[in-house]
Amino acid sequence: MVRFNGRHFTAFDRQNTPGAELSGVFSILPEDDGGVLFGTAADGVFRYYRGRWQPLGAEEEAHHLPVSGMLRDRDGALWIASAKRLLRMDGDGYLHDAGAAAGLPAARVITLVADGEGGLLVATEAGGVTRLRDGQASGWGVDWLGTELVRALARDGEGGWLAGGDDGVRWRHADGRIEHFRPGQRVDAVLRDRLGAIWMNFSSGQLVRRSNGGDERLQVPGTVGQALLEDREGLVWVGSTDGLYRVAEVAAVGFTQEDGLGSDYVRSVLQSDDGALWIGHAGGLNRWYQGRMQTIGLVPDGGRDPSVLSLDYRDGMLWAGTYDRGVLRLDMQGRVRERIRLGEHTEPMVRAVLADASGGVWIGGTHGLAHYHDGRLESWLDSQGQPQSVVQALYRDVDGTLWIGTTGGMAALDGTGAIRRWAGGRDMPAQYVFDFLRDAAGDLWIASDRGLLRMRGDTFHVYDHRHGLPRDKLFRILDDQRGNFWLSSNHGIFRVARGEFDQIDAGTRRLLAVHVVDRSDGMPGNQGNGASMPSGWRADNGALLFPTSAGLGLIDPRIAGHDDGRVPPVVFESLAVDGVEQPLQAGLQLGPGTRRLAVGYAALNFRAPDKLRYRYRLHGFDAGWVEAGAGTEALYTNLPPGRYRLEVQAMTLPLDWTRQESIGSAVMALEVVPPLWKRPSSRLLGLLLLAGAVALGFWLHTASYRRNQRRLHREISVRTEELSEKNRALEAADRERGSLMQRLEHQATHDELTGLPNRRAADRRLQQAVARARSAVTPLCVALADVDHFKHINDNHGHEVGDHVLQRIATVLRGDDDCAGMVFAARHGGEEFLLVLEGMGRHDALRRLRELHVRVAGLQIVAPDGSPVPVTISIGVAHLQPGCDDARSLLVAADRQLYRAKREGRNRVVG
Ligand code: GH3
Ligand code: MG
Ligand code: MG
Repeated sequence: MVRFNGRHFTAFDRQNTPGAELSGVFSILPEDDGGVLFGTAADGVFRYYRGRWQPLGAEEEAHHLPVSGMLRDRDGALWIASAKRLLRMDGDGYLHDAGAAAGLPAARVITLVADGEGGLLVATEAGGVTRLRDGQASGWGVDWLGTELVRALARDGEGGWLAGGDDGVRWRHADGRIEHFRPGQRVDAVLRDRLGAIWMNFSSGQLVRRSNGGDERLQVPGTVGQALLEDREGLVWVGSTDGLYRVAEVAAVGFTQEDGLGSDYVRSVLQSDDGALWIGHAGGLNRWYQGRMQTIGLVPDGGRDPSVLSLDYRDGMLWAGTYDRGVLRLDMQGRVRERIRLGEHTEPMVRAVLADASGGVWIGGTHGLAHYHDGRLESWLDSQGQPQSVVQALYRDVDGTLWIGTTGGMAALDGTGAIRRWAGGRDMPAQYVFDFLRDAAGDLWIASDRGLLRMRGDTFHVYDHRHGLPRDKLFRILDDQRGNFWLSSNHGIFRVARGEFDQIDAGTRRLLAVHVVDRSDGMPGNQGNGASMPSGWRADNGALLFPTSAGLGLIDPRIAGHDDGRVPPVVFESLAVDGVEQPLQAGLQLGPGTRRLAVGYAALNFRAPDKLRYRYRLHGFDAGWVEAGAGTEALYTNLPPGRYRLEVQAMTLPLDWTRQESIGSAVMALEVVPPLWKRPSSRLLGLLLLAGAVALGFWLHTASYRRNQRRLHREISVRTEELSEKNRALEAADRERGSLMQRLEHQATHDELTGLPNRRAADRRLQQAVARARSAVTPLCVALADVDHFKHINDNHGHEVGDHVLQRIATVLRGDDDCAGMVFAARHGGEEFLLVLEGMGRHDALRRLRELHVRVAGLQIVAPDGSPVPVTISIGVAHLQPGCDDARSLLVAADRQLYRAKREGRNRVVG
């Protein structure tokens, strides 16, 4: 059994969990009180509650049950699917074969679900579904399922049912309509998620999601089985032979070289009117068009394409600014129509291009700014006698003004040709200007190396790390038309609600609630690229595209941070007092000498566990909250006596503790008990004693005969104390005797060497099994397994190796390694084992025994001298039949078959 809290797994097994046989847990049932039930392969049901494990069931039989499914009904009874029986365990812990009593066919129970109306739906290997209600069995869904073998039953969330089996999935809608899909294919698990998609595990090992968009096969490594679950966050979990997988919609995906990009170092991106995406990168230019990635050749002779830094699109023409080949003009098919040279010998780096309505283009880069029109190139900033600086951003304002971002401030060129300059660090707060955006309110937003600037009139407002932005250097500003700005940086993409800037200005907010989208959300890289244009784009479908140094990131703003406002549930997980783990319990009391208290906690957010943040506060001790960041332990030392409440709060990033509605919290009450002499009750007692003494003195003084009475009293209390002392000793002795009896009982029924039940226990078990099989008319097989040439093993390698071989074989037969459950194994003596296979006919038993036989032969046993010790066993099998229907004759028959196996050459299963 393994527990997962979103960050790590904790395994519970036989070794570390005394009191619970947790090898082979096939079913888990959470209970309303926070307890959990675990159904095991051969040891019945264990209940876990507040750190303690307890086997369920009043009878011995309950502790040897194979459990494949469990369900609690409305009346609180626990239903247990156990091989071919459906048992009911009532509150008193006694088992009833309620399935058989109600007339359920004696066949293996495959699925057990509540019908939501107080009844149980049971699908068995006999086919069809039976409904049990009020002790009566009746056919269910016969009109649409017939006697089809049903392997999975699930509600559709709208009053209908889904049934998966050997003939695909049948869906009976609430209105009676029936859909049948994937006929002929075997389905082992099915569910319908909250968005209406149907998930199916096929026996072929595939996971398929069926939605309006059709069937979609999801790549899950390994082979999927019956484990399929939608959790409270809406994530789907699936178990496969390769492990546990979580399927989630991600906020971002990446386009990389694997998708056909010429280089992962992406500099610029835009979308043209025809819907094509143009992607400029260190290896040239790609076009993503109608689902295909195309490489655009930029050099006529087929040489190496230049790095494309900047792009612009207008009127069916694409302009590409390059690293060393000037500016290229392309048509919509990607053919280069014109090359604009900027330098005589070497070309400057073109970081920004901006086409204008007259067919010309503005060109910014290491040369400054130039305008090209009709074959003529005109240099700008230079011609004004301004100091040369690198132009890296060009933006056309609504009034036609051209905004120019440089490495040393910015400039504005208005329609009349007048230029106004803001020198970096002198006329404006930033040096590097990377991007501009004019918003509907008329403010100009500027992405810079000193944060996000808002220019209103002639004044600049700065928003940076002091307001909660993770980085000050920001490259691109995109408006998602949903009320948010998206800012690219070297550490992911930041989303900030537009209105929060106003709240900061108004003084009603101190920090921006920044949602970060990065690699953990599916972005190809965290390092966004800037200083080239456009370094971000909002596509016509709303997706936001950001060039990064590891590929092009595509963000779906509808999914990004969609769990905002989700309240992560918080639980306490561990408690250590002075370094010693303690079970979690309500009303924790700590002794007066307690020095160190460590409380572990966790919040659940399976989608983004790394984005959880915590704070805690010990009410009655801490003056304020302790910010714990991502830490999950609260530590206190030398707490003074008193009553406290430890409160832990958690929320998912963006961190904003004023968003009460998004905060999850848990509270634990605890008390540090004062030392005896400090307790109010002791003080009261002291006072009373004093008063009593005074009164007594008076008393003694006044009435001497009372002295005798006092003596008498004392005598009585001494006697009473003596008596209760004796009583306590008796109780202790009784407890000791009880545990001794338990140990003796175990020793009497178990073999010391292998830990398997011994012959005595096996004989008893066999008697019971035969009686059960005869009354329930179910099949039963008995097998005897004997180690081949065991004497040789002892002779060649010594007795110790022989002992070890027996232990290893016992492990296989017991079914430690996996699901060999349903087989009872005992050491019958020497190197001989008895196996009881309940509910299994001859055919099934032989198959199971052959598996075990092969597994024993596959054991890798090595003697201390390093030589391998090959081990094989011979198995003789007998089955219950007329004439061979008691324990004795079954054993005799199995022994005869074993003898035959030996005679025929050993190392085989005969029966
Ligand atoms: P076969 O294939 O005919 O079964 O040959 P075998 O040598 O296994 O047959 P046999 O029954 O003659 O020998 C069994 C031996 O197993 C004899 C005994 O010394 C040894 N043995 C019995 N119990 C133990 C034990 O607990 N530990 C060890 N090491 N040896 C045991
Ligand atoms: Mg033998
Ligand atoms: Mg032998």
